[in-house]
Amino acid sequence: MRDYILSGHAVHVSIVDRQLKSLGSNMVGKDNAAVISPSAGRLAGLSTMPTPVIRPLGTTVERAETRAYAAIIGGGLGGFAAAISLRRQGHRVTVYEKRDIAAEVGNSISCAKNGGQWLHEWGVDIDSGYPIDLQKLVMRDYKTGAVDMIYDMSAYEQKWGFPYYMFHRQDMLRMMITTATQTAGQGPPSTLKILHSARSIDFDRGEIEFENGLRVTADLIIGADGVVSKTRALMDLEPTIKLAASTCYRCNVRLDQLQEMGLERYADPAIQFWGGFETDDVNKYNKIVMAPCNGGKLISFYCFYPAKGFNVQDVSVEDLVSPFSQLDPDCLRMLNSSIDRKPWRLYEHTPLTGWTQGRTGLLGDACHAMFPHQSQGACQGIEDAAALGLIFSRRYNYTGNIEEGLKMYESIRKPRADRVALCSRLATEDIRERIGFSSLPGSVSRGAPKPIPGHKRLTIEEINGYDMVAHLDELVPSHRKH
Ligand SMILES: Cc1cc2nc3c(=O)[nH]c(=O)nc-3n(C[C@H](O)[C@H](O)[C@H](O)COP(=O)(O)OP(=O)(O)OC[C@H]3O[C@@H](n4cnc5c(N)ncnc54)[C@H](O)[C@@H]3O)c2cc1C
Repeated sequence: MRDYILSGHAVHVSIVDRQLKSLGSNMVGKDNAAVISPSAGRLAGLSTMPTPVIRPLGTTVERAETRAYAAIIGGGLGGFAAAISLRRQGHRVTVYEKRDIAAEVGNSISCAKNGGQWLHEWGVDIDSGYPIDLQKLVMRDYKTGAVDMIYDMSAYEQKWGFPYYMFHRQDMLRMMITTATQTAGQGPPSTLKILHSARSIDFDRGEIEFENGLRVTADLIIGADGVVSKTRALMDLEPTIKLAASTCYRCNVRLDQLQEMGLERYADPAIQFWGGFETDDVNKYNKIVMAPCNGGKLISFYCFYPAKGFNVQDVSVEDLVSPFSQLDPDCLRMLNSSIDRKPWRLYEHTPLTGWTQGRTGLLGDACHAMFPHQSQGACQGIEDAAALGLIFSRRYNYTGNIEEGLKMYESIRKPRADRVALCSRLATEDIRERIGFSSLPGSVSRGAPKPIPGHKRLTIEEINGYDMVAHLDELVPSHRKH
């Protein structure tokens, strides 16, 4: 007999492990609480009792010297990265996600060395995410598709120690959920509770109340609830948000479709770009970004164009291609064969004035929403998670003083994440600001962007050469004196 948490209701059932496996058994916590979706529960014929489930109160200070109870609000890539990083330090983690983790249409998500190094460190089974090992960035002429610039990454792993991965978002999320919740691995497995939408937080007591009536208390609360963060709003840290000058359609093309069209040469392990800076007759916001994912079976496209009003929800092929009349005919042919077409509205966020309140801290898009033009949003969330794991490890030993630990977290993470966010905005205006292209000399046909007074371009060295442990070693002693 085990206790299962189903839509916030406890169900006491007897269920054999094989049945559980078919429902997604990796969502089983150390406390033997499993989380399954209501649909899965119905399929299995489980009955629910409307008994609110109350988590145990947070650990005392003495216990927290070595182990804390962490509640993570939001089960996205950042939330699960934090769950993995914290469980490895022996902390008990529960991830509360408002949705059903239903598999939604997804696209590619790249993971540069600064994210990938932590996945390796944490023992993530990266092959289970069907990664593509990227070999180059290619800049093509918007109208003809002729190659203008190549940033060669064939020696990337040799230089930086880890590859530059490209995942499909759903593959990556699944991989992260498994690592966080499976029994195997360092520390107690984390628990995932779906259909738990945080409504309010008592910051003094460290208590979260969910829409379903559940209340839980935790030593450490992490708001990893994304770009429209409830946690951030409750902390009264809302940024100024404005519509971005460019907007986006995203879609995928199956590899077999490319092969049928004789265009499989575009399925290289590369990120390829068309447009992205001002020319005489092409707007700088017209940009196509293409990369393979899902082990190469899907080719993913982000199609950016100048924002005009709101884009439609159900994107037809005609809608998709309409902003791109001057685009390279090969690229247009690929877009005409696309599936999974979705709109994606972009917003610009000002940096927050702070990331923490008491024992609650923000992580990922909740505190540094950025444009996708440096491909760093997820990587910065992974870095946040890595910092939390280190700060609440025995090495730095902040577990006895969560509030101080979170201040340390903000000190080390905010300046770097804010800078990457700023540079992601600049790369919206000119693709040559993008990490990789930003290091190419101006002698290639398209040249380098105009220097911006006072601005130092973000480089691959700054992103990949960063040593978080050395940075903490340097900051922690002076931080402790205050
Ligand atoms: C189209 C696209 C392409 C991108 N490409 C890249 C890339 O190539 N490389 C890269 O590094 N980054 C990329 N990014 C950015 C990256 O995806 C995000 O930065 C990253 O996913 C953010 O993770 P997160 O966990 O902070 O937020 P999210 O992934 O948004 O997760 C937040 C979670 O919180 C849940 N939630 C919200 N409110 C509540 C609540 N009240 N209670 C409980 N749960 C709640 C949400 O349902 C959601 O599951 C891309 C983003 C997009 C949209």
